[in-house]
Formats: sequence, C-alpha cells, structure tokens
Amino acid sequence: MLNQLTDGYNRTHDYLRISLTDKCNLNCSYCMPDIPFYLPNHELLSDQEIVKFAELFVRDFGIQKIRLTGGEPLVRKNAAEIIESLSRLPVELAITTNGVLLDRFFSLFEKIGMKSLNISLDSLMPENFNTITKHDQFFKVFENINLGLAKGFHIKINTVIKQGMNDHEILDFIEWTRNSPVHVRFIEFMPFDGNHWHWESVVSFNQMLEKIENIYPIEKLEDSLQSTAKSFRVKNYAGTFAVISTVSEPFCQNCNRIRLTADGKMRNCLFSQNEIDLLTPFRDGKDIRPLIQNCVANKKAERGGLGGFDKKEAKATYDKGRCMTSIGG
Ligand code: SAM
Ligand code: SF4
Repeated sequence: MLNQLTDGYNRTHDYLRISLTDKCNLNCSYCMPDIPFYLPNHELLSDQEIVKFAELFVRDFGIQKIRLTGGEPLVRKNAAEIIESLSRLPVELAITTNGVLLDRFFSLFEKIGMKSLNISLDSLMPENFNTITKHDQFFKVFENINLGLAKGFHIKINTVIKQGMNDHEILDFIEWTRNSPVHVRFIEFMPFDGNHWHWESVVSFNQMLEKIENIYPIEKLEDSLQSTAKSFRVKNYAGTFAVISTVSEPFCQNCNRIRLTADGKMRNCLFSQNEIDLLTPFRDGKDIRPLIQNCVANKKAERGGLGGFDKKEAKATYDKGRCMTSIGG
C-alpha cells in the first residue's frame, strides 16, 4: 500500500537524494574537511541494496524523483550499472556531479533519457579552479560541460560563492550566460563539519544580486513551489542564473526532500542532527518502513532545528555533524 511521507508541518516528501559514495576525485576547500575521512566499503550500501532501497521508497512511499549525489557519484564502482537499474523505476532520475568523468557517461545518460545534468563548477579561471579543488581538472570539466551542451543536455551549473574564493568571478559567470544556454546557480556557502565556515565568508543572496543588478538589466523568472533557487535572466541572454539562499533566506516551508547516505542512514534534512540507520535493520530482515515514516514525522520546521546559523549554540552543533561528502550534497 502506498503511504505518502508527510511530516508534522503537512509537507509531503517525494524527492529522495541518494549518496552513491562518500569518496571524491576532487577536494574542494569549502566541502572536504582538512583530513578527509572515508567510510569502509563494508559499511556502504551494496549496489543491490541501493536499488532495493530505491524500489521501496518509490513503491511504498510514492517517491517521484531521485537525485544521485555524493561525494562524487560517478567514482563509485559500478555507477553505470546502478544508474541503469534505477532508470527502470517510474521516477525522474537526476544527478549532481563535478563533471570530471562525465564524458564516460554521456551515452548512458542518453540511453536512459536523462536530459538534465547538474554540474559543479566554482571558477572559470583554471588556476583558481585548481586552487579550490586541489586538482588540475579545469579543462576536463569545462570540455565536458561544452560536450554536454553540444549533445543537447540541459545543464545547470552549481557554483558555491565564498568571500575571497570566487566572489570576484560572479560577473564572469553572468557573462558566460550571454551566449551559452547554461543555468548558473550561485549557492551561498553553508556550514558543515570541518569546512571552516563563518558568517564573514558567506556572500548572501542580496549581496550577489546587488553586484549583478549594478551592471546588468535582469528579469525575475518563475520558480516552482518547491524550488530551492530564485531564478533570473539578464534580458536577452541565452542562459539564466539563480541564487540558492540556504543561509540568508532558507526555503524550508515547502521542502519535499529526504536523503539516504552512502552508508544507509536516512536524514530528513541536510542540517538534521539525527539520522536513522536503515541498513542494519534491513540486513537483519526487519521492516524498515516504520523507521522511514518516523524519520519524516520528526522533521523539524527549519534547517534541522539549528535555528539561525549566527547563533553560537547552533555552530557548536553543526560543527559536530557530518561533513558534506558523507551526508551527500
Ligand atoms: N561531487 C558532486 C558535485 O560536486 O557536484 C556531488 C556532491 S557535492 C557535495 C553537491 C553540491 O554541494 C555541489 O554543487 C557542491 O558545490 C555543493 N556544496 C558542497 N559543500 C557546500 C557548502 N559548504 N556550501 C554550499 N554548497 C556546498
Ligand atoms: Fe567532491 Fe563535490 Fe565536495 Fe567538490 S563539492 S569535494 S567535487 S563532493
């Protein structure tokens, strides 16, 4: 029987983000802790378990959309086989990737009808990209983005903006949308365990918009109810842009997202302070559906109950949480 996953604030959850791995082939300064910690393989969901969990969420809880993330989802061994199996489910399947390995996957994505790709790119300057990611992969990623565009994929670019890291490139990204049909999404820098976050390093939605509006005539575009992004276009430009304002203006009231970590823990929010182990009871043959329902029922109104990020107590809590790669972004 199908049960919708509704929480105490009447929000229905039909969007599941699955982390395929906590490993990554880049080492972004705002994401990875200084000393990366990786889960041992036996603690991770196996290929079959990922597919079984996804089937259960779709069949029993009416999940409509699954996004694969990580770490870097495409570095997972057998990523292609897992993606192909998941594509047989009656859901919209999507992926967020750093783009390094994309060229190896285009034909699979074309075959399974995945038309839209979210690709992370934090700099249009090769040297700055290398500094941020600690890997010399700018040209590979940029080439793969252009290849994807040439093949007709709709490409959303995720760009985390951080003071002193790449805020001087905001207008370059806007300029990129002049002739290129990319959708650039500027993301406010968020706090996670080990990523050295502090308020002064956040460039807020208002600050970004002011910078852009000072130079360009922009128009607001319509956003879907559950969208995390506020979208705009510079008049007559081929591409569009948006800002994801998790820090300065959270968008929790319409949230429909739940998460499954690579080690089979369910999280009802990116900032949640609790997670529910689904993998151990699943391996013991137990019914995990009540656990899933409880997890959603206990979802807090906003940002995992952390409150404003400026509060000292909140900082102490998220400092002890998981890093972004182990949650699954
Ligand atoms: N490796 C893939 C990638 O980079 O696209 C998928 C995982 S990554 C964790 C997912 C998204 O989270 C990326 O767009 C990344 O830029 C973003 N992200 C990571 N750490 C962040 C932070 N501290 N604040 C805001 N966004 C962050
Ligand atoms: Fe890896 Fe993505 Fe995190 Fe960069 S943002 S370290 S690519 S998981």
